[in-house]
Amino acid sequence: MTSKRQVLRADVQEGIQNRLVQGNWRPGSRLSIDGLARELEVSPTPVREALVALERSGLIEYQALKGFVVAPPLTPEQIDELIDARGLLEGAAFTRAFAHWDALVEDLRRAHAEHSAIADRIAAADEPDYALIHEYFDADATFHEAFFQHAGNHYLASMREVLNTHGHRMRQTWSEGPEQIDSAEAIGEHAEILARVSEHNHDGALDALRRHLEGVRVRSTRLAGGAEQ
Ligand SMILES: [Zn+2]
Repeated sequence: MTSKRQVLRADVQEGIQNRLVQGNWRPGSRLSIDGLARELEVSPTPVREALVALERSGLIEYQALKGFVVAPPLTPEQIDELIDARGLLEGAAFTRAFAHWDALVEDLRRAHAEHSAIADRIAAADEPDYALIHEYFDADATFHEAFFQHAGNHYLASMREVLNTHGHRMRQTWSEGPEQIDSAEAIGEHAEILARVSEHNHDGALDALRRHLEGVRVRSTRLAGGAEQ
C-alpha cells in the first residue's frame, strides 16, 4: 500500500540523500529536523522518518544530545570491506545470471551504452552538473544490477540492496566534482566485462569484473586519502 504519506517521505528522503552525496554538508554537521522541514516545505514528520531511514544507510548518525549528524566518509578500511563483500556477492550473482546469457548480454549492452553516453556528457560539460553525476552513478549501478536481475535469487538481490545503501557513502568520496569521477577507467572496465560476456566467456568476464572492482577499490581509497601513491 503506497499512501500519499509514503510518497512524500520517499521524496523527502531522496532530497536529503542527494544533498548528502553532493557533500553539501560537512561531516559532523547537525541536521535540524525543523530546519530541513522549512527548507523542503514539508512538516517535520516526513523529515524525521526520512532521517531514521537514512541512518540505516550509514550516511547519517544519531548522536545523543546532538541528534542526527552527517557521518564521516568511509575510511579506506571500510571501503576495502565493502568492495570485498561486493565482489563475493556480484561474482555469485554473475555466475547464476550467466545461465540466462541472452537476456543478460542484452541488458548489459543497453546499460553500458547509457553509462557511456552519460560519461560523454559529463566530459563535455564545463561546470559540475550534480544531477548528471547522480545519473552517472545510477547508470553504473544499473550495469551491475543486471547480474542480480538474471540471477533468479531474491535473497541475493536483497543482500545487494543492503550493500547498495552503504555504497551511497562511497559517493561522498567523489563529491569534489566531475574531474574526480573515474569515468574513463570505469567505462573501459565495464567494456571489458561486456566483451567477455559477449564472447560467452564466463571465466574471462568474472576476471574482468574482479579487476573492475579492484580498480574501484584503488581509486576510491586514493580519494579517501589512504593510498600510498
Ligand atoms: Zn561499475
